[in-house]
Amino acid sequence: MSKTAFVNKEQILKIAAKYPTPFHIYDEKGIRENAQAVKEAFAWNKGFREYFAIKANPNPVLVDILHSYGCGADCSSMTELQLSKALGMGEDEIMFSSNDTPAAEFVYADRIGAIINLDDFTHIEYLEKALGGRLPETVSCRYNPGGVFDLGNGIMDNPQDAKYGMTTEQTFEAFRILKEKGVKRFGIHAFLASNTVTNTYYPILAGQLFELAVQIREKTGATLSFINLSGGVGVAYKPDATANDIRKIGEGVKEQYDKILGKAGMTDVAIFTEMGRFMMAPYGGLVTQAIHEKHTHKEYIGVDACAVNLMRPAMYEAYHHITVLGKENDPQDHVYDVTGSLCENNDKFAIDRKLPKIEMGDYLFIHDTGAHGYAMGYNYNGKLKSAELLLKEDGSVVQIRRPENELDYFATLDVLPIFDTLKKEIEASKDIQISNVL
Ligand SMILES: *Cc1c(COP(=O)(O)O)cnc(C)c1O
Repeated sequence: MSKTAFVNKEQILKIAAKYPTPFHIYDEKGIRENAQAVKEAFAWNKGFREYFAIKANPNPVLVDILHSYGCGADCSSMTELQLSKALGMGEDEIMFSSNDTPAAEFVYADRIGAIINLDDFTHIEYLEKALGGRLPETVSCRYNPGGVFDLGNGIMDNPQDAKYGMTTEQTFEAFRILKEKGVKRFGIHAFLASNTVTNTYYPILAGQLFELAVQIREKTGATLSFINLSGGVGVAYKPDATANDIRKIGEGVKEQYDKILGKAGMTDVAIFTEMGRFMMAPYGGLVTQAIHEKHTHKEYIGVDACAVNLMRPAMYEAYHHITVLGKENDPQDHVYDVTGSLCENNDKFAIDRKLPKIEMGDYLFIHDTGAHGYAMGYNYNGKLKSAELLLKEDGSVVQIRRPENELDYFATLDVLPIFDTLKKEIEASKDIQISNVL
C-alpha cells in the first residue's frame, strides 16, 4: 500500500513561487467529502452532531467549512470559545469539554450558550459558585471508568492513568446532585482511547456508555439527552494501516443503540462526537524543501521546516509519511534521517526512513498534518510559525493564515525599551536577498 499526496510537484512549484516553504496546505475537497460521510454515517440518529475538536485545527476557514456540514465546535479554552462564537456558532453548537478550568471560562461558556461538560465531581460546586449560585439548564459529565480499555483483542489505552473524568460512583452522585439542583438536560461524555485505527472503538465505547445511561436513569432518575463519544477515532498515518470506515463505525454504534437504548425505551438520546484527528488530519500536509544534506555517522537531509511546524514526531515519536514530490515512483533505495533545524536532537521528521534519493531543492510532502499539526506549534529557538494555505476545490490556492513575522514574535516585549531597537533591527534585515544557493 502506498500513500499519495493530494498535491503534485507541478502544483507545489507554482504555489511555492508565491508562498515560500514551509507551509501547511489543506485539501478542501477531502475535508468536505469526509464531513459529508460523517454526517451520513450517523444520519440514523435524530439529534446527531459532530463537535469538531477545535484544538486539532483552529483555523476559522476550516472550522467554517465543517460548520456548513452541521458540525459544531468542541472547545477547551477561552480563546477557542471566543473563536467559535465569532464564527457564528449558536446555542448548542459549542461544547466546552475542558479540564482544570478557570472560573472565567465557565462564565463565558455559559454566557454564549455552550454546553458545559464537567471534568470532575467537584466542578459542580465550582461552576455553581462561578455562576453566582446557579447551574446551567444543561450539564454534561465526563466519565472515566478506570482500568484499561480493551477491545477484546488487545489493550487500546489506559483510562486509569488519565487525568480526565469522574469515577463511576462519582458519576452517579453527580447526576443525583445535578437533578436535585434543578438541571433539566443531562449528557455524558467519555474519551477512553486515542488514535484508534479500528472500526470497533466507537461501538464498544458506545455500548459501555449506553449501559451506563440506563443505570444512571435507574439509580438517579436522570434521563440523558445526549451521549458524547468524544474523539479518539484515528487515521492511517502509516502506509500499511487500514483507514477507519466511518460508515461501518456509524452502523456499529447504531447496533449498540438499538440493542441497549432501544430495549430500555431511550430512543430520544442524541449521539454527539468530538472528532478532531479524523475530521482533518489526512487533509493537511506540511510542505518543506530540502536545503542541506549531511553525510556523517548517518545520512541526513535537512529541511526548512522543523518541530515548531509539526511537533508530533519529536513529542510522541509519531510516524508521518513523507512523499518526495516528483519522485513518487522512484525506488526507495536510500535511508535518511529527515531533520529540522532546532538545537534539539529529537527534531527529526523521520528516522532511518527509506526514501528515494533526495536532491537539494526537492520538495517533501509530510502527510497527515491537518490535525494536531500547525495547532501544536510553538516558538522554540525563536522559530516563526508558518503560513496555512487552502487548496480549493477548483484547484486555486488561498492563504488562510499568513506566516508569523519577527514583529509578531517580539510583540510581547513592547513593555521594554529594547522593543524600538528590535523593530529597527527587523527593518535592517529586510534587504537580504538570496541568490541561488541550492
Ligand atoms: C483532543 C480531544 C478531542 C479530539 O481528539 P481526536 O483524537 O483529535 O479525535 C475530543 N475531545 C476532547 C475533550 C479532547 O481533549
